[in-house]
Amino acid sequence: MPENKNIVIVGASNAGHGLAKKLALDTTLTVEYRILLIDPASAAYWPIASLRASVVPGWEKKCYKELKQEGIFASGTKHQLIKARVVKVAADHVELDREFEGSTTVPFATMVLCTGASQPFPMRPKQEWSPQEVEDHLKQMQRDIANAKSVVIIGGGPTGIEMAGEIRAQHPDTKITLIHRQPRLLDDRFPKKLSNQLEAILKKSKVDLVLGDEHIQEDGLVTDKQDTIRTIRTKNGKEIQGDFIFIAIGNSPNTQLIADADPSALSKERTINVNDYLQVTSSLFPNKNVFAAGDCANSPGWRSYISVEADITSISKNMAALLRGGPLKKHTPGPRAMVVPFGPAAGAGFAAMGPLGDTALPQMAVPFVKGKDLFTSKFFERFITA
Ligand SMILES: Cc1cc2nc3c(=O)[nH]c(=O)nc-3n(C[C@H](O)[C@H](O)[C@H](O)COP(=O)(O)OP(=O)(O)OC[C@H]3O[C@@H](n4cnc5c(N)ncnc54)[C@H](O)[C@@H]3O)c2cc1C
Repeated sequence: MPENKNIVIVGASNAGHGLAKKLALDTTLTVEYRILLIDPASAAYWPIASLRASVVPGWEKKCYKELKQEGIFASGTKHQLIKARVVKVAADHVELDREFEGSTTVPFATMVLCTGASQPFPMRPKQEWSPQEVEDHLKQMQRDIANAKSVVIIGGGPTGIEMAGEIRAQHPDTKITLIHRQPRLLDDRFPKKLSNQLEAILKKSKVDLVLGDEHIQEDGLVTDKQDTIRTIRTKNGKEIQGDFIFIAIGNSPNTQLIADADPSALSKERTINVNDYLQVTSSLFPNKNVFAAGDCANSPGWRSYISVEADITSISKNMAALLRGGPLKKHTPGPRAMVVPFGPAAGAGFAAMGPLGDTALPQMAVPFVKGKDLFTSKFFERFITA
C-alpha cells in the first residue's frame, strides 16, 4: 500500500465509526484510498442509553458493542480497525503506542480527529475496560442504585434530569434530590419553556430540587454508592444527605493530542478549532488535510449526536472533494433540537422550526421520539452482525 493513500480516523466511537462507514461506501474514493480507523477501546459506546443502562437490568447490553474488524468493515476489505492509541499527530502522519505494519508511524493523505470527550462513568466507560467489564460496571451500578435509599444528583443539565427520571421510573420510593447551580433547570442556552416543563415533571415525580445553589466540592466525591449516609454541603448552607451520589457535571473534550502539538488550535472550551469546511485551523496542518468531528470539535451546534451526524456528513463529502481536487462545500450544522426524556414514558423537548423559532414538542411524543429506545437502533444498525 503506497504510504500516502491512507485515510486515518482517530477514534472509533460514534463520530469515527459513523464516518468510516460512510467513507467505505464511496467506492470511487476507496478504490484508491484505504481507511484506517484507530482506537484502543475494546467497545464502541452509546452514551445516550448509558443512564438507563446503569439503572434498569437488561439495558446493560444496549449501550455498547465490541469493536471488531468484522463488525465494521466487510470481509476481504483493505480497510482496517487498528486497536491502538494515537500518541502524537503531525502534518502527514500519526504516532501509535504500538506497531502497525512494522512501525509506530502511520502516514496519511488525510486525517479526521474524532477523539470525543471524557465524562465520568456511566456517561463514558474507561477506555481500558473490556466489553465484559463495561457490562459488569453497569450491572454493579444498577445494584448500587437499587440498594440506595437516598440519591443526590449533582447537576441539572440534561444528564442530571434524565438520570432522575430513570431512577424514579425504576424505583418509585427512592428519595432523589437534584442540586443545580442555575436558577432554573438546564441553562440559558435552552428555551425557558423547556426548563419550566421539566421542572413541573420533576416536582410532580417528587424529585426535590435545589436550584441556584451548588455543592461544595470535597475530596473523593465521585459517582458511587456511599458506605454510609453522606452529607453534601452547599454554598447556600444546605446539608443534603444521600447514600448514592451521582455526578452529572464535567465533560472535557479529548484534545490533548492537539494541545501538545499546537495549543493555539484549541478554543477556550478546549475543543479543536475548525473552519467553515471543518478543517482543523492550525499551522501544524498547512495542507488543510486534517478535519475534526463530534465532541472533540468546535463545529457549530451543541456537542451532540445531532452534530456528530452533521459533521461526518460534511466531512465525508469535503474529504472526497479534497482528495479529488474539487471545491469544498461549507458545513451545514445539524438542527437545533433537544429531547430530554424522564424515564421511558415522560419528558419534554423542543426543536427550532424555521420562522416559528424554538417550538415545544408535544410531551406525549417524547417517548416515541427518544424515551422508549434512546436511539439504540441507530447505534446497532451501524454494525455488521453476520
Ligand atoms: C447521557 C447522555 C445523553 C445524550 N443524549 C443525546 C441525545 O439525546 N441526542 C444527541 O444528539 N446527543 C446526545 N448525547 C451526546 C452524544 O452521545 C455524543 O455527542 C456523541 O456520542 C459523541 O460521539 P463522539 O464519537 O464524538 O465521541 P466519543 O463517544 O467520546 O468517542 C471518542 C472515541 O475516541 C477514542 N479516542 C480518544 N482519544 C484517542 C486517541 N488518542 N487515540 C485513539 N482513539 C482515541 C475513544 O476511545 C472513543 O472511543 C448524550 C450524551 C450523554 C452522556
